[in-house]
Amino acid sequence: MKGKAWGWIEDNREHIVGLSDRVWDYAELGLAEERSSRLLAGELESHGFEVERGVAGMPTAFVATWSNGDGPTIGLMGEYDALPGLSNGKVPRKEPLRPGAPGHGCGHNVHGVTAVAAAIATRHEIEDAGIGGTLRMYGCPAEESYDGKVFMVRAGLFGGVDACLSHHPGSVNTAGLSSSTAINSVKFHFHGKTSHAAGSPEQGRSALDAVELMNVGVNFLREHVIDKARIHYVIEEGGGQPNVVPDYARSWYYIRAPERDQVDHIYARILKVAEGAALMTETTLRVEFLTGVYNTLPSKALSGVVVSNMREIGAPSYTAEELAFAAEIARSFPREQKVDNLRKSKMPHPEKYLDVDIVTDILDPWNEGEVSGGSTDVADVSWQTPTMEFGTAAFVLGAPGHSWQTVACSGTSLGHKSLIFAAKTMAGAALDLLTKPELLAEAREEHAKKMQGRTYRCAIPDDIGPPLEVAKVQAAKLG
Ligand SMILES: [Zn+2]
Repeated sequence: MKGKAWGWIEDNREHIVGLSDRVWDYAELGLAEERSSRLLAGELESHGFEVERGVAGMPTAFVATWSNGDGPTIGLMGEYDALPGLSNGKVPRKEPLRPGAPGHGCGHNVHGVTAVAAAIATRHEIEDAGIGGTLRMYGCPAEESYDGKVFMVRAGLFGGVDACLSHHPGSVNTAGLSSSTAINSVKFHFHGKTSHAAGSPEQGRSALDAVELMNVGVNFLREHVIDKARIHYVIEEGGGQPNVVPDYARSWYYIRAPERDQVDHIYARILKVAEGAALMTETTLRVEFLTGVYNTLPSKALSGVVVSNMREIGAPSYTAEELAFAAEIARSFPREQKVDNLRKSKMPHPEKYLDVDIVTDILDPWNEGEVSGGSTDVADVSWQTPTMEFGTAAFVLGAPGHSWQTVACSGTSLGHKSLIFAAKTMAGAALDLLTKPELLAEAREEHAKKMQGRTYRCAIPDDIGPPLEVAKVQAAKLG
């Protein structure tokens, strides 16, 4: 039954890879992905999807729908934002294409196109076979920076979706069951009074002092929060030069923990520390809440559907040239780092993979109950409907994420093979969910159980929209 969908992907391989390479070239930052989103939305439109652009208040977000009558609604999500400062050529060494420019260091050029190709392939299959159901491809901006999906969830765009699939290029082929941390992203603006720092220091009220005292307070607070919390900050603005007491200073915090309510509790205490710092320094404080996401609720049922499709398709194999490219990348980071990464991932039989640069095995998910340190806005979707973000090998095993190494891999045949394999997997899984009601029922039952005692209330206050202005300033500076 899936032959037509998989055949379509195979027949259009070059075109699909071309789309991914174009998004790789564009390398646009979050909420500035104008050309990337136009390209992907246009592609879906040319295949008969009805496209709504600029959804949830974000010009680069879109939803593309194709319906074949009554039946389940399957969501497919794609991202296309790049990361600042990571520009690199398609070479196995650090060699920026445009120094300081963004690059696809998380492989989101592959991420977005996987879902587009899977949506179109599935559409052809269900139309030909007369399968009832609806496909909705979600073009999701700014995963790396401003959590576009949270605004899309808040706008009700995931209502009526029976299950949602997403793919992220990675270093193994599996549909992992680990969760991700919930997070708040918040800026703290302190305002004081300038004065001559030597001549009349008593007249000054230093905003930088407030930022520093807040950081000291938070660093003491670390001892009294749960072990798995992660709190990190940068000082974005700290004054002009030492002989002027800074009347303005700003810090930017990420506050993470395994469960949403844990973030809420820690955040409430951090607000008190910030207020305390303002009180101590006689400065005023303005809190700018940027975004907040939930922890991911993984889906064992969907993971099973995805992995069985991977096995039916078979993972890609690699040419001697590709393996040499991967080996050269592997030489760019210490072997101990790879050992550490494998140990940290709790991957079964890590010793098997010590000399493997590109994984060709399809692995059973091993990480149920684990929480990765990072966060993703896929999590908020997972509180609405059964959701699975699976991975296919595109990167060299053990290579750091968000690095020139991942930029290079995302744009070469390693990324391309990962993309084609993932698109077939996603199409196959979508077709299973459309045609086997028992699979969907199992996923929905598991989800309902996970949601018992949990309610979703968007972490971003109602009056706060997508940070379009902040993104514009960032894109102008780093784009
Ligand atoms: Zn990513």
